[in-house]
Amino acid sequence: MNYIDPHVHMVSRTTDDYERMALAGCVAITEPAFWAGFDRSSPQGFFDYFSVLTDTEPKRAAQYGIAHHTWLCINPKEAEDPGFAREVIDIIPEFLDRPNVLGIGEIGLNKNSRNELEILEAHLELAAQRDLMVLVHTPHLEDKLKGTRMIMRTIAAAIRNQSRLDPGRILIDHVEEHTVREVLDGGFWAGMTLYPDTKCTPQRAADIFEMHGTERIWINSAGDWGPSDPLAVPKCREEMRRRGHLAETIRKVSFENPREFLSQSGRFRTEVQPTR
Ligand SMILES: [Zn+2]
Repeated sequence: MNYIDPHVHMVSRTTDDYERMALAGCVAITEPAFWAGFDRSSPQGFFDYFSVLTDTEPKRAAQYGIAHHTWLCINPKEAEDPGFAREVIDIIPEFLDRPNVLGIGEIGLNKNSRNELEILEAHLELAAQRDLMVLVHTPHLEDKLKGTRMIMRTIAAAIRNQSRLDPGRILIDHVEEHTVREVLDGGFWAGMTLYPDTKCTPQRAADIFEMHGTERIWINSAGDWGPSDPLAVPKCREEMRRRGHLAETIRKVSFENPREFLSQSGRFRTEVQPTR
């Protein structure tokens, strides 16, 4: 059964991972820009990173029959210096016309600071101006609920101020038991990040589907440079199968839902484009 991993940081993974994902049925991925595990020393470091996300990774993924897409931003962890962050945001537009760019992400909050909030607003403004979709990161710390609410309030305020943002084109990621309801009730899409031990496990994700249904929600591995599992999505599907969920339900959360949301960009593909 084919699946989509809509949030995975392949720049930190080996080609063996691409191969294992392809064997498990992965046909398409999206890779948000994120913190690389270290702070870049200059905005130019982001120029190189965006080049990798829009050129190197799509080629690497294509070798395994996986269609690669990306989201661009400066992540909240490196947004504490607003001057630096704005220089990075100024670089983004020259990459926005690359064929695998879906929108702005993963933006959001990490420590819920004032500077992070300012840079979140700047990213939202760029997304609204260019009519782009948005992928949002919510804090992994104990302040996840507070941060999620701050993000939703910031988006609501932008919309009140005539911004073209539409919650139906915004995915709020890393939701857990205590944040998923408010995100869905706000009209947003919700993503669950599956980690081997910390954050949301495949078992907890299956529980959340059972509690909150399968509308406007997806699962992803967020595989990165730390302890994480690029096969988390097929493992969650296996957990759902074991619990007796219908094949149709499993396909909905691991393929149909991400395809429906991502297709709003007009650039999302589940097959590698031969011209690349
Ligand atoms: Zn991420």
